[in-house]
Amino acid sequence: MDVKVQNIRKEFARFPALNDVSLDIRSGELIALLGPSGSGKTTLLRLIAGLETPTDGRIFFGEDDASKKTVQERNIGFVFQHYALFRHMTVLDNIGFGLKVRPKNRRPAKAEIRRRALELLDLVQLSGMENRYPNQLSGGQRQRVALARAMAVEPNVLLLDEPFGALDAQVRKDLRKWLRDIHDRTGHTTIFVTHDQEEALELADRVVVMSQGKIEQVGTPDEVYDTPNSPFVFGFIGESNGLKVTADHGGIRFNGKPLNMAAAPDKHGEALLYFRPQDIELIESGEDGLTGSVIATRRVAGTRHVELDLGSGTHVELEISTEQAARIDRNRVTFRPTRWKLFPV
Ligand code: ATP
Repeated sequence: MDVKVQNIRKEFARFPALNDVSLDIRSGELIALLGPSGSGKTTLLRLIAGLETPTDGRIFFGEDDASKKTVQERNIGFVFQHYALFRHMTVLDNIGFGLKVRPKNRRPAKAEIRRRALELLDLVQLSGMENRYPNQLSGGQRQRVALARAMAVEPNVLLLDEPFGALDAQVRKDLRKWLRDIHDRTGHTTIFVTHDQEEALELADRVVVMSQGKIEQVGTPDEVYDTPNSPFVFGFIGESNGLKVTADHGGIRFNGKPLNMAAAPDKHGEALLYFRPQDIELIESGEDGLTGSVIATRRVAGTRHVELDLGSGTHVELEISTEQAARIDRNRVTFRPTRWKLFPV
């Protein structure tokens, strides 16, 4: 089901947790809400679920104004970070719970509930564990049961709030792949909260980057990584360097020195130049570019990271191949960004 978030504002005791947030989610999409702690991700998820009421703005489920619907009528599947399984119920009863508590006229027969719960157990690859209790499962298995339980009600929208947040790194990675696979098979419209950029980029069809109660950028993982539209997104997703430069007459200067890089001719004055550590070329020391003294180098997987001091307290980090690293001057390095963006100061 399509979900349309329209000009939402949410205040808690006059503190704006969300400010004029609008977002269109297409039916069947897997959307990640990504942002630092306190950026408003959980608040947005709770508003969509109907667990909070907006101060302003509206949310639509398809054509229907969701504010006219109760939490039950919205028919949401919810999975939280901390397993909210019922401890005194078996795995199978946990999964069937949402169907069992439906009003009589919408409740499937007992045998049908069992059939569906077993089918979901198979989908989350836990067949054979139906009679176990939650404390007889690992953390990752419990979250898989929680997901099966959320899907049992055939939700209009599946909302996941840091579902793997409490699990260790390897389990998180495995569950990520597994969730993407389940999503591709079931096609539920899914909104997923995370503060882990790797998780968001690997899993989502589109990533919504949030900061301080606002949406900074919405795009595919490639779009938000390759063409960040603000210094915040540049800094939050992937690694980046930011330098204060001056733009004049179509050129860019750092500390008064020309960089042989072209700025739009209408840009004049101070600006912020952003580029990623790997988006650079090493050049001869006499050429126009950025020159710095080497402070540190470290090996990171197949590449080498070189930290440079460009003067005036400005440090940057470059990522170069190990072959290039073997050839560079140990003390001074000159380079030029090959992919970059200028932002107003
Ligand atoms: P985290 O990653 O830490 O969970 P988040 O991005 O999900 O953060 P929210 O939980 O949505 O952020 O919180 C956004 C802002 O709203 C925060 O400043 C938070 O303190 C505030 N806030 C959230 N819920 C309430 C509440 N019930 N009462 C008062 N303030 C709240």
